[in-house]
Amino acid sequence: MKKTLWIGGELRETASYSELKNPFNLEFLADIAIADHQDVLSAVESAQKAVTEMAEMPAFQRSEILEKVAGFLKEDREECARIIAKEAAKPLKAALAEVDRTIMTYTFAGHEARRIHGETVPMDAAPGGQGRLAFTVREPLGVIAAITPFNFPMNLVAHKVGPAIAAGNTVVLKPASQTPLSAYKIAEYFHKAGLPAGALNVVTGSGSKIGDILMKDERIKMITFTGSPEVGKYIRENSGLKRVTLELGSNSALIIDDHVSLTEIMPRIVSGAFAYQGQVCISIQRIFVHENLFETFVEQFISETQKLKAGDPLNEDTDISAMITRGDVQRTKQWVDEAVRNGSGLMLGGNYEEGIFAPTVLVDVPLSEKVSCEEVFAPVVHINRFRTMKEAIELVNDSKYGLQAGIFTNDIHKALEAAKKLHVGGVMINEIPTFRVDQMPYGGVKMSGMGREGIKYAVEEMTELKLISFKMD
Ligand code: NAP
Repeated sequence: MKKTLWIGGELRETASYSELKNPFNLEFLADIAIADHQDVLSAVESAQKAVTEMAEMPAFQRSEILEKVAGFLKEDREECARIIAKEAAKPLKAALAEVDRTIMTYTFAGHEARRIHGETVPMDAAPGGQGRLAFTVREPLGVIAAITPFNFPMNLVAHKVGPAIAAGNTVVLKPASQTPLSAYKIAEYFHKAGLPAGALNVVTGSGSKIGDILMKDERIKMITFTGSPEVGKYIRENSGLKRVTLELGSNSALIIDDHVSLTEIMPRIVSGAFAYQGQVCISIQRIFVHENLFETFVEQFISETQKLKAGDPLNEDTDISAMITRGDVQRTKQWVDEAVRNGSGLMLGGNYEEGIFAPTVLVDVPLSEKVSCEEVFAPVVHINRFRTMKEAIELVNDSKYGLQAGIFTNDIHKALEAAKKLHVGGVMINEIPTFRVDQMPYGGVKMSGMGREGIKYAVEEMTELKLISFKMD
């Protein structure tokens, strides 16, 4: 199979291609186009040409296009999940869940397209403002560059393309090199749904090369990026006056207070730590357990983790499969070994077979270890103990990241204290930090990013507020 670029509503050949392989068994999947400089400029030009048509398209038509895309995804649910499972080694169960969420994301985008509006402004509240009728409108920005990661190749594309189209923008999409097939599939659906040529363009190839071209191009008004903090920072520093939103990584934490009943919540916590091999931006990486519950928690957590089945992502009962690259397996091994050398207790895992890293549980980890203070992005979790809620909150906040945090407690005062004091983008009470539904505001503080997604909030980022004032007399 060969995948050409998608520019100006057409398949576009280019000079070179690279082989895409399944991360689990390294089987060949497709030859993927590597966009050259000219291809990227051509994608931006197509997007620029479609700006007026998209800005003038009535809201109901934009909404209908998005609803059609959601419909195509529903019809092809299994096929789409298999694409994700193959290119990302995401276990089929998780891939199907991602497709279901992608359907919701485009459905919400369809709804949101119909309710983008401004507000009236009471100009006469200030002396000299009287005699005016004023209101705001939200206008599309124009061309938006969307750069996406490998770990949710359909739904994170949807979180950018959905609100961008809902708001009447045009898009140049650069998906992760490991997961281009899902992005090309979505481009096909938008074409079939009647999106004007050029309103969505897909370019594949090296992120750093394409990124540099997109960052320099004055025609691009916004870069919406999801990926690693290092790349996010580079984009922020090199994008001039373009609007930039960054959805970056984290080392998400969960607090387990004293007296919490563990049995019911344990499967959920284990899934929050190990789903998709821990390669989720809000994966549970640090668990802080009240000292009275510590031993019981560790015991139950390990026994629940041992139920996970490792294997081929295409098997319906697989829970854990290969990490995205063999290099990431090696990096994870080094970080775990280093933590153990420096005094952490290894309770489970710590080894790998080919691409699959075994679910790994560490205890009493010094917080300066990479498995604690850096984003591990692997099936590795550590469990430490605390005495007071004040201490637990300080431990969670002692991080350069701040995406989401979770707390299980029976004490409303402690829940409210955590809600107030945790320095993160979202606090999940009696829930794991890994919880997300696609319409909620989502994003981080500190090195976890800037700006918010969740369709309504992304639409705000992707529109310009214009004030219109009528002088009446
Ligand atoms: P990544 O290496 O940063 O890549 C993300 C995207 O950026 C890819 O399309 C990549 O292209 C591109 N890229 C790489 N270098 C670039 C550069 N210099 N300029 C512009 N673009 C560049 O991240 P990843 O490994 O795919 O994804 C994992 C990271 O994403 C983790 O840190 C995770 O926490 C984060 N993430 C955050 C969220 C959130 O919502 N907060 C959600 C999911 C993931 P290539 O693939 O071609 O290199």
